[in-house]
Amino acid sequence: MSESATTTNLLGLPRSELEQFVAELGSKPFRARQLMQWIYQRAEPSFERMTDLAKSFRAELAAHACVQPPEILTEQRSADGTRKWLLRADGSQAFEMVYIPESDRATLCISSQVGCVLDCAFCSTAQQGFNRNLTTAEIVGQVWLANRELAGTVADFARERAVTNVVLMGMGEPLANFRNVVPALDILLDDFGFDLSRRRVTLSTSGLVPQIYKLAEHSNVALAVSLHAPDDALRNELVPINRKHPIAELLEACWHYIDERNGRSVTFEYVLLAGVNDSRAQARALAALLVGHPAKVNLIPFNPFPGTQFRRSSPEVVHAFRDELLRRGILATVRRTRGDDIDAACGQLAGRVIDRTTVRLGSRTFALAVQA
Ligand code: SAH
Repeated sequence: MSESATTTNLLGLPRSELEQFVAELGSKPFRARQLMQWIYQRAEPSFERMTDLAKSFRAELAAHACVQPPEILTEQRSADGTRKWLLRADGSQAFEMVYIPESDRATLCISSQVGCVLDCAFCSTAQQGFNRNLTTAEIVGQVWLANRELAGTVADFARERAVTNVVLMGMGEPLANFRNVVPALDILLDDFGFDLSRRRVTLSTSGLVPQIYKLAEHSNVALAVSLHAPDDALRNELVPINRKHPIAELLEACWHYIDERNGRSVTFEYVLLAGVNDSRAQARALAALLVGHPAKVNLIPFNPFPGTQFRRSSPEVVHAFRDELLRRGILATVRRTRGDDIDAACGQLAGRVIDRTTVRLGSRTFALAVQA
């Protein structure tokens, strides 16, 4: 961010803060709403071009504010239409976002941290370690950038925004960066912001239980939970945060979130690892945990990355696992792998991270990463 002390980046300011800022410049609060529409809905970074604002107000804005998204370092395009952008976090570090077009929607998978502290055994981001939380500007800036980049490829940008769905499933653990993620969610949903319905914004967590309760007080986006194992012994190994917040506690928090937010259901992500968590008995155990609750399961074929010992389950095993769930009344789908030719698939996002943690999880302290 090239921000001087007197220049405020308006990208990432929730509406109430933008209203305050506008009031300090001597304008009426509704100007903030106009400004938000220019910034988020038209991806306009230049105050000069915001033609329905008074000239004097535009001059004030130009003197005191900016609209500053992260800088794009590289872009890669997959044969299947998936696009991955590498974005600058600072001189030496970078994070990634992935655009996944489908016939009826276009999903942007965004990052919330540079690296991750959670150390899940099968995730390539984990191997990078953790450096820092992304700011709210960097989080919403990803959606802003994607819309701007895609504007040229969508017939009528004003009517049909490029990104229709946002998933916080990129690098990082969003609930470990609660302070910056919640205002970003507000902007994604705000009528004057990106104006996305809450069903089209999904936050995925590895299971930070206290923060799930807190999220229920602050937001109502769709919740996805990275479960990956039907019992604590295995989950302790695959998703080490389970040692702190075991499955029963995690599921209680999920049902609370759904009750509290009157939502439809929690999506449980389950990456299928050959010979590790993909047996029929494990499918039955998973079904037993979830049956009778507002839950669905999204099975993810494992995406390999250099250095991993895990292998992808065969398509037959994946389907047998899914059928076992369906037979027990659990809605289950298999996630189609997208963008793996450019390392843009789930768990392959690595960016460039200078690790600031010293110990691996289990003994690693969470104080650094979990800032509630
Ligand atoms: N930290 C959050 C957000 C990341 S979401 C979370 O854990 O939910 C990324 C999703 O991809 C998670 O469900 C994660 O478990 C899954 N994933 C990680 N590595 C993977 C891999 N190598 N192959 C397939 N899915 C993977």
